[in-house]
Amino acid sequence: MRNSVRCPKCDGQSILHASGIEDRSTHAKDAVLSIKGDEPFTVFGSWSHVGVIEAYICENCGFTEWYTRDPDKIPHGETVRRLKTKPRKGYR
Ligand SMILES: [Zn+2]
Repeated sequence: MRNSVRCPKCDGQSILHASGIEDRSTHAKDAVLSIKGDEPFTVFGSWSHVGVIEAYICENCGFTEWYTRDPDKIPHGETVRRLKTKPRKGYR
């Protein structure tokens, strides 16, 4: 939907992009949903925008796709782990 600008559910062609989703579970001003790391993602004491959740929303039916900003920059640790694929049997 992000690239096609077309809803896979209703074929709608009016897609909204939300570059941040407000986190209403906290009273912190401008808190946005983001991936939780072992340590806060900060740059020089300010919150980093790494791992912020974005959404693409079909204006017709409301279907929503979620994406994480800069996934290649998210630190790995206990909370965020890279899953490894298992080699296929009989495949070289
Ligand atoms: Zn739709």
